Amino acid sequence: MIELQHVFKSYGRNSRNILADISLRIGAGELVFISGPSGAGKSTLLKLIAGLEHASRGSVQVNGQRIDKLPARALPYLRRAVGIILQDTHLLFDRSVLQNVILPLIIAGQSPQSAAARARAALGKVGLLDKENFNPIELSGGEQQRLAIARAIVNRPAILIADEPTANLDKDSARLIMSVFRDFNQVGVTTLIATHDEALMAENATRILRVEPGRFFDLRAGEPA
Ligand code: ADP
Ligand code: ADP
Repeated sequence: MIELQHVFKSYGRNSRNILADISLRIGAGELVFISGPSGAGKSTLLKLIAGLEHASRGSVQVNGQRIDKLPARALPYLRRAVGIILQDTHLLFDRSVLQNVILPLIIAGQSPQSAAARARAALGKVGLLDKENFNPIELSGGEQQRLAIARAIVNRPAILIADEPTANLDKDSARLIMSVFRDFNQVGVTTLIATHDEALMAENATRILRVEPGRFFDLRAGEPA
């Protein structure tokens, strides 16, 4: 589903490698955490997989396609295969919760009626149906995060990627967010979560990709170290 081969990434021609010689495979339906100190390159790794950044060297395959070789016209297809929740959730505060979730469907060409029905189904999955007419500004941090998840998932992507989704949340909100990810993962969505949250990983992780400056570890529970 996701395969990186000897991937290097630096920002700008003469700058240092943030990621150096990373190879990994993630199978369909896996739930994988990405950990490591701040600035190590967790977001960069997620962005390479989402096609938001290009590898400096090496190949990145998503859904059987070399995304580093995709022509610009194929990028919307990739965007639909991968739902992404960045650290800045980029919610739109000039419209309702429901309209935030409808927008990606309208962009994908759906009719307003079917978009509204799908958006409500997505809001139901994250437990926000009763807030559909609120402005996102009126939601708590955890609710805003769940709204961002609904918007990321509404196109039914095969892969869901989240960058620090529980940052700044209390323990109960973080647990709720994690249960939302688990629900989507349980119906087959391949899920990648970058986090600092040791408790979250201790409770949920079966596989952790650890990114450290100049080093990379693929840690699987139950496998000999
Ligand atoms: P993490 O998510 O682990 O905190 P990042 O992937 O955000 O790490 O950043 C890794 C390194 O790459 C940092 O030193 C950061 O400053 C640098 N970096 C990230 N994005 C850019 C960019 N667009 N341009 C230049 N440097 C960047
Ligand atoms: P609908 O078929 O009307 O979308 P569902 O009750 O089947 O209603 O809800 C599924 C919702 O779950 C979708 O609207 C979507 O938000 C979300 N979803 C996203 N990706 C998937 C997936 N791969 N499998 C199942 N549900 C998904």
